[in-house]
Amino acid sequence: MLPNQKLADMGQKHLFPTYRQPDAVMVRGEGSYLFDAEGTRYIDLSGGIAVNALGHAHPKLASVIAKQAHTLTHTSNLFFNDKANALADALTARCFADRVFFCNSGAEANETAIKLARRYFYDKKIPRFEVVSALNSFHGRTLGALTATGQPKYHQGFEPLVPGFSHVPYGDLAALDAAVNERTALVMLEPMQGEGGVVIPPDGYLQAVRDLCDRKGALLHFDEVQVGMGRTGQWFCHQHDGVEPDSMSLAKALGGGIPIGALLAKDEHARVLVPGTHASTFGGNPVACAAALAFIEVVEDEKLLARSLEVGRRTIERLKKGLQNVAALNEVRGRGCLIGIDMKMPVRPFLQGCRERKTLVTVSADNVLRLAPAYNIPFDVLDAGLEVVVEVVRAAAAQAA
Ligand SMILES: *Cc1c(COP(=O)(O)O)cnc(C)c1O
Repeated sequence: MLPNQKLADMGQKHLFPTYRQPDAVMVRGEGSYLFDAEGTRYIDLSGGIAVNALGHAHPKLASVIAKQAHTLTHTSNLFFNDKANALADALTARCFADRVFFCNSGAEANETAIKLARRYFYDKKIPRFEVVSALNSFHGRTLGALTATGQPKYHQGFEPLVPGFSHVPYGDLAALDAAVNERTALVMLEPMQGEGGVVIPPDGYLQAVRDLCDRKGALLHFDEVQVGMGRTGQWFCHQHDGVEPDSMSLAKALGGGIPIGALLAKDEHARVLVPGTHASTFGGNPVACAAALAFIEVVEDEKLLARSLEVGRRTIERLKKGLQNVAALNEVRGRGCLIGIDMKMPVRPFLQGCRERKTLVTVSADNVLRLAPAYNIPFDVLDAGLEVVVEVVRAAAAQAA
């Protein structure tokens, strides 16, 4: 049996059947290429779902991780460690926040935001505990984050969900105004929706949401798990609009491929999570924090925020050109290294077509193909991948017509 098949069979047999994985089993990565167990090389435009922002096996990141592994891998929260403290310093220096809580994933960071908001009002003896978030949002799979996620298909069979959550259409200010009341503790929004189909909110929406929250006394949380850490060409997506939340969650690209999540907040809010209220055994892990510090350093040294924008512009331009006159295309849109191809048809079948042509992409909403390339993807590699995407989409659209 070929190695891919043999390894895939092992996974089919012994892993939870949570994912739809193809038989190509990845064993190695280099820059924007992935290699399967039989040595086949793929162009990676999926970026591990918006995680591998420096590509795979970046030499600087790899050596920092190796060095930290030889120095100190874990202390838990019994002690400060130098890397977590330095990373908190680096993150807060780049945004509105004063303090950081480290955890291991996006869902955990969002759980922390929900707990923080409830505790903040509890301490003030104000009976606010409800959370308002958007339809088609994605905030993670743990029960609180899942309840905040405005997609019924993810809720099905897991009820009863957490009480006190409601959802409004994304970008609809009147609906939000109607939903936020004197019981609302938190408004939780992605400053640009990732899983919901790469959706950029209407101009002025985020500022209007900020004003609404201030007027009504609710806290505002931006979930930047997918769009933060330079993905959209600013360190944080909300910086495009100059609108500051009260808290922000990060994960995905934060560790450049190493698992780490974070909740950031202003001191006034963060200080309510005193000892005993919240914790994470692995949170602030020195290896993960060293990786994230190296990630930030590489992005700035190699001017990759600007490059992320450049990659986005080039991608959108090429896709628009390649897909012009395709009747099944709704729109190509995106910001920086997060680009969606919105189609009038389900796009999941495109994944296999692209993979057969050795190019890897992902699905966002059912009808939106999502590209999340590395910020440093070489243009010739990008162009070769985009050519495949254009051909596969054109062929599928022609066949469906
Ligand atoms: C991926 C994602 C999450 C969940 O992150 P996990 O690390 O999988 O828990 C939360 N919010 C957004 C916006 C995401 O894209």
